[in-house]
Amino acid sequence: MKNLKIIPLSLLLLLSFSCVGNEKNVSLENDSVNTFSKKVASVDSLVIKSNIEQNLGVLSSKNKLPDGSVIPERGTTEGRQKTKEYIKSVLVGYGYKPEMHSYRKNGDNIFTILNAETTTDEYILVGAHMDSVKNMGADDNATGSSAVLEASRVLKELKGRKVNIIFAWFDEEELGLVGSYAMAKDFKKKGMKITSVHTMDMVGYDSDKDNNMEIEQPDGILWDYYNMVNKNHNLNFPLIRTNGGDTDHVAFRETGFEAVGICEEWYHGDTTPEYHKKTDTYQTLNFDFITNVTKLVSAVVGDLSLQVAAPTNIVIKKHNLYPSRKRAHFHSSYDEIK
Ligand SMILES: [Zn+2]
Repeated sequence: MKNLKIIPLSLLLLLSFSCVGNEKNVSLENDSVNTFSKKVASVDSLVIKSNIEQNLGVLSSKNKLPDGSVIPERGTTEGRQKTKEYIKSVLVGYGYKPEMHSYRKNGDNIFTILNAETTTDEYILVGAHMDSVKNMGADDNATGSSAVLEASRVLKELKGRKVNIIFAWFDEEELGLVGSYAMAKDFKKKGMKITSVHTMDMVGYDSDKDNNMEIEQPDGILWDYYNMVNKNHNLNFPLIRTNGGDTDHVAFRETGFEAVGICEEWYHGDTTPEYHKKTDTYQTLNFDFITNVTKLVSAVVGDLSLQVAAPTNIVIKKHNLYPSRKRAHFHSSYDEIK
């Protein structure tokens, strides 16, 4: 929280007010919480850092693919093709049947569905963009992509799921959320009942090791739900609410789904100095932080899929009450990127 001093006092008061509100809302005496804690080995304890390191290493050209080649970057058709093949191969290894969501020439999202144990038409979606700005894109966004892969492995172990979970990797985010808009619109058209969408973008930088995580534009119950899960699973990470956008959760919100983004401290300043540079490499990342973000998101999605009740008396607050900072402008094509 290097730059906390630049937040106006009124915003600080709002932030602290909303935290006080959550303290009231979260009660460990809540029946559903008790049922949950008896029933479930926490998914957060199943998250394995070395899996994230391995997948992130391949996606950001530090580690080789099984054929001995590397993915040099994820901002050309060729680099993105290799990326898609790799993500699919990892999913197959986890026992999934990944699907391509091809929406235009060379534009393909990947997704896979983890069915609930009971029949339901309800879904939760967790996703991240897999493309980069023609760099190794370790933080942006091999971090989110690897976190979703690990969440997909871990949540498969969760017994008693009552809601289906979609894991998604979006293409062409850097060209203006192209892949995530295409997926959101198609799923909307199909009438899919997706009750919450969680996207991670840049979740690997934490130079001061304070574990601060920014929760961007949490719709509906999501801010309170993240805080409840954070406590109930004894994670206790410092969560900071922001109005951050310019990434995939926006595409889903604009299409009519409730969504939230998870990010390192983009607004508060503890964010990668290598953003959109050739130097956004594996070596600059904090893997404990990525692991912690993966634990939080897996625990939240896990509890939502078990239908653990949300805190009562949630007061919905407008996103524009919270601070935000623009990300770099989108590119019209990868060729434009130097
Ligand atoms: Zn990104």
